[in-house]
Amino acid sequence: MPLKLYNTLTRQKEEFVPVTPGRVGFYLCGPTVYDYFHIGNARPFVVFDVFRRYLRYRGYQVRFVMNLTDIDDKIIKRANELGVPSHEIAQKYTNAFFEDIQKLGVQPADVYPKATEHIDDIIHLIEALIKNGTAYVVDGDVYYDVSKFPEYAKLSGKKLDELNAGERVKVDERKDDPLDFALWKAAKPGEPWWESPWGKGRPGWHAECSVMSMKYLGESIDIHAGGIDLIFPHHENEIAQSEAMTGKPFVKYWIHNGFLDIDGEKMSKSLGNFSTARDVLEKFSTTAIRVFFLMKHYRGPISFSPEPLQHAVKTAERLNIAYNLLRRRLENVETKMPVNRAELSGEAQNFADLIPKSRENFNAAMDDDFNTPEAMAAIFDFIRETNRWVERANLSPAELAVLAEAKNLLEEWNSFLGVIETRPAGSGMDHARVDGVMKILLDLRQQARAEKNFKLGDEIRHRLKEAGVIIEDGPQGSRWRWE
Ligand SMILES: [Zn+2]
Repeated sequence: MPLKLYNTLTRQKEEFVPVTPGRVGFYLCGPTVYDYFHIGNARPFVVFDVFRRYLRYRGYQVRFVMNLTDIDDKIIKRANELGVPSHEIAQKYTNAFFEDIQKLGVQPADVYPKATEHIDDIIHLIEALIKNGTAYVVDGDVYYDVSKFPEYAKLSGKKLDELNAGERVKVDERKDDPLDFALWKAAKPGEPWWESPWGKGRPGWHAECSVMSMKYLGESIDIHAGGIDLIFPHHENEIAQSEAMTGKPFVKYWIHNGFLDIDGEKMSKSLGNFSTARDVLEKFSTTAIRVFFLMKHYRGPISFSPEPLQHAVKTAERLNIAYNLLRRRLENVETKMPVNRAELSGEAQNFADLIPKSRENFNAAMDDDFNTPEAMAAIFDFIRETNRWVERANLSPAELAVLAEAKNLLEEWNSFLGVIETRPAGSGMDHARVDGVMKILLDLRQQARAEKNFKLGDEIRHRLKEAGVIIEDGPQGSRWRWE
């Protein structure tokens, strides 16, 4: 069965055939680093992390690029409010971004290009567009001339005259057409700027993604992903810029994730129902948050509310318990692989057959436009069986070998889902529970120090370090983290 993807460009599921056989160039629009990212933005980071790891698991050589927008109106506004340089804001929230995606269990991209480190490349793109007549200069600004790109709006399917009607209210007199968008913005007083052939200024947001995508993945890439809110105008404009420059198809498959809703409303800062991923990670484990996103199909909406979150917590717990039962049952057991079917009873043979069958069901679901809810259902069917077998006393060596294969399959799935805490020595527990235990230890250490028993205080720190836990003392008290 071939892998199929829903392509926003053609509005249908298509067989996935990469531009170069065996290789996948995958681009995801990254964050604008002006604040901690909200839990809605965690969704593309998590689901596309799973998809690219799944593609790798299926044997593709995947190159994954995510840009960091580190110069933008929002960053400048924030910096001016706080009276600090914009690069300080960008640096602070770039660091926070990396901390948070790591906590979300997201594997690092192959490249994280930053807008401010690609100004020359962006200028090069804009120069080429001016030269071939698709861009024009007005008072130090450069605009893209949408009328020169006949295929404009092919991704969103919007009608140009309707768009114009909607835009009429905020027409900028200097643009030839309200739909024309800025490639380069002349610097206003107090704004950061770079030298360019059109004077001091900074790049427009859309330009950086065209430039970085083409620079790191080539002129035609396989997959470009992002939230559905980016389809128009951001991705539409990326197509217009790139294809007007190269004359080649920019992206073969456009894939977009649905919104995260709170009580049916699109969650965003402006609506006031803002929860950062960081806040959510304080309350829920990485595995529970990943399960929460994967239990729904990526294209549909997700409701961010207590009930599905609690359900995700229970589900993640079920998976972790099933895995840990297997792990403990197989501890210090020598298993002979491959399994010798002749040594198995009929019932055990059925269990052994379930392993390739489950893998097949799982892959069939993932190959159908990354249908993670169905893939997860295949896992639950499977662990129902492993739970039954793991409880049995007196398993034969051949039966234990089947159990070992079952454990391997869970690890195989987990290598791209990241929904099971597979670290040994009890760390498979929910993070919140470990945190509860750690608080007791930190309080006892605090008490020892208050009573001037520094020897005991140091001993607690030392012993925890041996167990892979680092204690950090600060003005707000002590915190802990894994080494
Ligand atoms: Zn982008």
